Amino acid sequence: MEFQVSARKWRPQKFSELIGQEHIVRTLHNAIGMDRVAHAYLFSGTRGVGKTTTARLLAKALNCAEGPTPEPCDQCDFCKEIRDGISVDVMEIDGASNNGINEVRDLIDNIQYSTSACRFKVYIIDEVHMLSKPAFNALLKTLEEPPPQVVFIFATTELIKIPETILSRCQCFEFKPLTHQQIINQLKAICENDGIQIDPHSLEEIAKNGAGSMRDAQSLLDQVIAFCGKEIDPGAVESVLGIVGQNALASFIDGVMQKDAAGLLQQVSEVIAHGKDLGYFCRDLIEYLRNLMLVKVAGDAEALLSGQTTHLDTLKKQAAAFQPDELQQMFQILSKAEMEMKRSSLPQILFEMAVLRLTDVRPLQEIDALIDKINRMEGPSPAETNAPLPARGHTQPVRKAAPEPAQPTPKRDEPVQPTDPAVSSPATENTTWEKIRSAAGAIKRPLGTYLDNCRLTALNAQEIRLSFIDQFTMGQMEKEENLEALKEAVTEVCGTKEMKIILQRGQTAPDPAGETVSEPKPKASSKKTSASEDEIMRDALDVFGGKVIG
Ligand SMILES: [Zn+2]
Repeated sequence: MEFQVSARKWRPQKFSELIGQEHIVRTLHNAIGMDRVAHAYLFSGTRGVGKTTTARLLAKALNCAEGPTPEPCDQCDFCKEIRDGISVDVMEIDGASNNGINEVRDLIDNIQYSTSACRFKVYIIDEVHMLSKPAFNALLKTLEEPPPQVVFIFATTELIKIPETILSRCQCFEFKPLTHQQIINQLKAICENDGIQIDPHSLEEIAKNGAGSMRDAQSLLDQVIAFCGKEIDPGAVESVLGIVGQNALASFIDGVMQKDAAGLLQQVSEVIAHGKDLGYFCRDLIEYLRNLMLVKVAGDAEALLSGQTTHLDTLKKQAAAFQPDELQQMFQILSKAEMEMKRSSLPQILFEMAVLRLTDVRPLQEIDALIDKINRMEGPSPAETNAPLPARGHTQPVRKAAPEPAQPTPKRDEPVQPTDPAVSSPATENTTWEKIRSAAGAIKRPLGTYLDNCRLTALNAQEIRLSFIDQFTMGQMEKEENLEALKEAVTEVCGTKEMKIILQRGQTAPDPAGETVSEPKPKASSKKTSASEDEIMRDALDVFGGKVIG
C-alpha cells in the first residue's frame, strides 16, 4: 500500500470527526439544517487546526447528493470528488502562490457561469491574507453582489491582515488551537491503528512540539516513525524532535545560577551543533522556569507538575537559589526572545543576547527596605544617613556585589559640575536614554540590539557613559560607523554635539545617580556601601517615580 502521511490519511471526513472546534461545527450544522448558509465565510486560526478541512466538509455538506445536509454521506460522486480534490465546482486556491490580480480575475470571470453538476460553486481561498491589494479589491466587488449559488470560504492564519471591508462581508469563525490532550488522544489513536508502539512520554513530547497544531504534531509523529520504525525509542524521539532533554536544561540553569556566561554560550553552540532548534530550546527553558516557579511558590508542587517529577530534587535545589522575582525576570527575558526569534533572521544572536541578560538578573529590593532607606535619607542627621543598612545583608543576599568602576577616571574626583536637574534625575535619564537608544536603532538597526546589551552608567550634560557585559558587543560599538551613528542619535535627542561618549567594560555599573546623590554629603561610608546604597536609591526612584532634589 502506498504510504500516506498521517495528516492526510486522518483528515476528518465528517463534522463529527473534527476535533476541538465544536462551537464552529454546531453553528455550521444549524446553518445548513435551516438553509441559512452565508455567501462568505472567513476561517481564522493557527496552522493545522482544521480550517481547510472544515471548508471541504462544508463544500461536501452543500453538494452531497443527499443534501444539503449537515452529515454528508461521503459515498456519492459529489462527496468523493470533493474529498479527492477533483470536483470542478469546488475550487481551492492557495493565496500564498496566487497572490496576483490575474488569478482572482480568472476566478471572478468563472463565477458568472453556473455550476457544472453541483448545487453550489465553492471557492476555498487558503492563506487569503497573502492576496495582493488589487486582488482583494477585485474580490470585494464580487462579495458585494455574489451570484446566488456561490459560497466563498476564506482561510487565514493572520486575521489581522484581512481588510475590514472583507471582514464585514464574511461570517467569521475563529478556530481554537488544540489542547495537548486532544492532540495526544489523536496521536494515540493513530499509533494504535497502525500498530506503532509508543510510550506516553514520547506522545506528550510530540504533542507539545506540535504547539496546538494537529497537522504539525502528526507530521512530527511521521518523522519519528520514519526514524524508529514500529517501536518508538524515547531517546530517539528527543533527538528527532530536537528536544533538549531535562538534564541539559537543568545544567543550563546551573550555568545561570553561577553567572557562567561563557559556559552558557558554549552550551548554546552545542545545541546548534546537534542540529537542534533554538526556538524549541528556548520554549523548553521557559517551561523549565515555570516548573522552578511552581516548586518555589507551591506547597504541593508534585501535583502541579503533572507527573514530571523525575527531576524534582534538582528543581527544588535550583528553585531555592533564586528569588521569585528573579525567576519572573528570566521568564520575561526568554519570552521576549522567543517571540523575537520567530521574526528575526538572526535568531541565534538574539538568543545569545538573551542568555547574557539572564546572567545579569538580580533580585529587586524589598519594598519595605526601600521605604526605610528613603525615610532615613530624608532624616536630617548625617550620622543616621551614614549608618549601615539593616536587614539587606541577611534577608536579601546580594548576588552580585557592585564592583569598582571598570576604568576609574579622574573625572570622578573632580568637583561635581552643577548639571541641569532635568538631565540628572535618574527617571529622566532613563527616558532620555530610551529615546537615544531608539533613535540609534532607527539610524542603524543593529545598534538597538547592541545598546540593549549595555548599561547606562552616566548621562549628564557633559557625557554619556555605557558599560558593556561582553567584549563582542563593546567591540561592535567601538567601530567608527557605529559610534558615529550613536553620536548622531545623541545629537538628535539632546540637541548638543558636545557630549562625550565613553564606553567601558564591566559587569555592573558605577551608579549613574552616584555623583548627584552621594557627593553632597560627607564621604564617610566606604565606596562599596555607597554604591549599593545608590543602587537601592535608584530602585526606589524607579518604584516611586521620584527624583532627587537638593
Ligand atoms: Zn454525498
